[in-house]
Amino acid sequence: MARIVMKFGGTSVADLDRIRNVAARVKREVDAGNQVAVVVSAMAGATNQLVGWCEALSPLFDAREYDAVVATGEQVTAGLLAIALQSIGIEARSWAGWQIAVDTDGQHGKARINGIEGEVLIERLSRGQVPVVAGFQGIGPDNRITTLGRGGSDTSAVALAAALKADRCDIYTDVDGIYTTDPRIVPKARKLAKITYEEMLELASVGAKVLQTRSVELAMKERVRVQVLSSFSDAPGTMVVDEDEIVEQEIVAGIAYSRDEAKVTVRRVPDKPGIAAAIFVPLAEANINVDMIVQNVSEDGTTDMTFTVGKTDLAKAQATLEAVRGAIGYAEFSTDKDVAKISVVGVGMRSHAGVAGTMFKTLADRGINIQVISTSEIKVSVLIAAEYTELAVRALHGAYDLDAQ
Ligand code: ADP
Ligand code: ASP
Ligand code: MG
Repeated sequence: MARIVMKFGGTSVADLDRIRNVAARVKREVDAGNQVAVVVSAMAGATNQLVGWCEALSPLFDAREYDAVVATGEQVTAGLLAIALQSIGIEARSWAGWQIAVDTDGQHGKARINGIEGEVLIERLSRGQVPVVAGFQGIGPDNRITTLGRGGSDTSAVALAAALKADRCDIYTDVDGIYTTDPRIVPKARKLAKITYEEMLELASVGAKVLQTRSVELAMKERVRVQVLSSFSDAPGTMVVDEDEIVEQEIVAGIAYSRDEAKVTVRRVPDKPGIAAAIFVPLAEANINVDMIVQNVSEDGTTDMTFTVGKTDLAKAQATLEAVRGAIGYAEFSTDKDVAKISVVGVGMRSHAGVAGTMFKTLADRGINIQVISTSEIKVSVLIAAEYTELAVRALHGAYDLDAQ
């Protein structure tokens, strides 16, 4: 007998037939003698619609009310799945984040889980009940509903698996595992039997949406065994494992892209100590994550500063920059949403030179201009015009010999 957390994403619960399909899969695990807790996402498209409603009323909406609105998607599916399970003879009940409780910090819209009380659910599991938990949500120190950022149900599932001391956390989605790149844009992408926590963490953080970044971070820290698999087939999935469990390590594990960032260029900033702080501290105080940063060479005592922020934070970033204009004394700033970040990831980069060179040459051969570059120990990222996203990912996939035979 094992204790399992099963998480189902939006496409897996997109309509009532799919919810019935999920119930049947849960029943299979219960019938096999396992203790099962389920985490669900909102029905596909539901969260986008809820977010759209908030933005339509006010681009600078109150994040606490945003959370009150967008958390409802998961409550619908949790209740529906509990009903579907009961209708096939499985004792089940739904749980909202605050009922368990899933304690988070107070960063509305992108809250982090501080801890989950496992005892109540463990007691239910031992009685054979299946808890169906609404993913993506928790409760903050202000006693209000929080949400965990887009894709956050993965993190709910891993956090729950840690709190319940589950043997496994199975993430069911619309692809049958983790691939060398997004199989929807590169049909030749190869499914990986295993991937290291570190590589998955880096791939997720640069845009591979198959797992939310924070969920991988948490799985790594809490030693949760995570598996990604399809809710529509019985194909074997991908296990996220420690580096020593992988026998033959490739130099490049995978390629990811993100169209979620926007580029901001602040022009003619005085080139003197304290200026970077004068720009980035207010952005941080406004809870805006800055990703790539470049500062150009200084001419005539001024410089241009280019950086990227999440598209969803762009309006807030613009407002913040306007507010500090007097203090900084820059000439103007411009923004560009038509950009994409393409990243190559692999732990093999630590010991092999030339990965960045191959990337730059491959893009140059296709006439793709690189606007910003950033690197880490196991990653190289470039910012390019969004229209070249698919071309760039496919070309790089081939260049690193990742194409399936
Ligand atoms: P869910 O709604 O189940 O959480 P997501 O849309 O969040 O599903 O994540 C699954 C999607 O992740 C896939 O449909 C695929 O397009 C995308 N994806 C991006 N990179 C990868 C990758 N390397 N391997 C597998 N899927 C990927
Ligand atoms: N429903 C939320 C979203 O669309 C959370 C999730 O699916 O993981 O972002
Ligand atoms: Mg997801």
